[in-house]
Amino acid sequence: MTLPSAGVPPRTPAAVLAAAADAGATVVLSGHVQPDADALGSTLALAEGLRRRGARVTATFPGRPELPASLGWLPGAEGLTPAAAVDPAPDVFVSLDVASPARLGELAVLLERAGTSVVVDHHASNPGFGDVRLIDGAAPATVVLVAGLLDELGVPLDAPLATLLYGGLAADTGSFRFGSTRPDTHLLAARLLGTGIDHAAISRRLFDTAPFGWLRLLSAVAGRAVLEPEVGQGLVWTWSSTAEAAEHGLPGEQLEALVDVVRATAEADVACVLKGQDDGSWSVSLRSRGATDVARVATALGGGGHRAAAGFTSHLDREATVAAIRATLRATVGATTRDTVGAEGTPATLAR
Ligand code: AMP
Ligand code: MN
Ligand code: MN
Repeated sequence: MTLPSAGVPPRTPAAVLAAAADAGATVVLSGHVQPDADALGSTLALAEGLRRRGARVTATFPGRPELPASLGWLPGAEGLTPAAAVDPAPDVFVSLDVASPARLGELAVLLERAGTSVVVDHHASNPGFGDVRLIDGAAPATVVLVAGLLDELGVPLDAPLATLLYGGLAADTGSFRFGSTRPDTHLLAARLLGTGIDHAAISRRLFDTAPFGWLRLLSAVAGRAVLEPEVGQGLVWTWSSTAEAAEHGLPGEQLEALVDVVRATAEADVACVLKGQDDGSWSVSLRSRGATDVARVATALGGGGHRAAAGFTSHLDREATVAAIRATLRATVGATTRDTVGAEGTPATLAR
């Protein structure tokens, strides 16, 4: 990267981004595949901030360029560039809310091809990749880290930026219900509300809007749920698929909210939804009620995530996938009892 730095190149994320902005450098930003409100909110907010500071910015995300209706309205989403059309060798590449390079899909090559790659993330399972890193496994959402970067860049928060940050914050904290929520999480939320955003409308659009067909889908998926109290500290699991969603007139992204219902099961510490994809693979969502570290389970099975919310992709059939989860839970459970959670006093980190 040709940034104006006499001598030592800047090595903190904020310094790299400030130098890039000052130089009018090209910056490509991306979140993870199948982006959620945190991935997209982080990407769009930092992109807008850098644009205002003078960088030549492209915001994108890997995979198919369509966004779910719940996210397509976010400020700046209309300006997202399809991954296939981005500069493959920008001065700076910023990866946001991405637990591992594989979650960048076809954009992972930019980690190597960009002049400098910057990784901003809050996944406990993040192995540490990229040239310059802002990785905080205790942060409840990547947007929290982006808010800090925008402050360091001297970009004032206005309503469009606050909408993006609030969406990611509310999504990854389960609307401030999860253990990852801290006093400063509410302080940030207060700051964001202070810009005049309509938080009720944001939450309704993100979390509380689905076509009528979703009720029928939920009925079918809940109806086939299996409770296995003897596995680990209890497992409840069910499955659906993009094909089943289509039968109810729904796009595949409507499968994502199912786990939020399943995880209420009191008899099971771990909830699991297997989501069959168009290519025959299973995208697996795992949630813990607190005793089990599902990031460890997901990581053992090739994925990652947070202590209380994690996922992986399986190319086995459905039964074999559930068998692998059972086996991993049985192997993991001794290390993660309710007692150790209490003794550590660590808040569960539940985020998407
Ligand atoms: P989900 O169940 O898709 O909402 O994902 C829950 C959490 O697990 C999120 O933090 C994801 O980033 C993470 N996650 C899901 N799938 C994977 C995967 N295949 N590899 C790494 N992390 C994942
Ligand atoms: Mn996140
Ligand atoms: Mn995410």
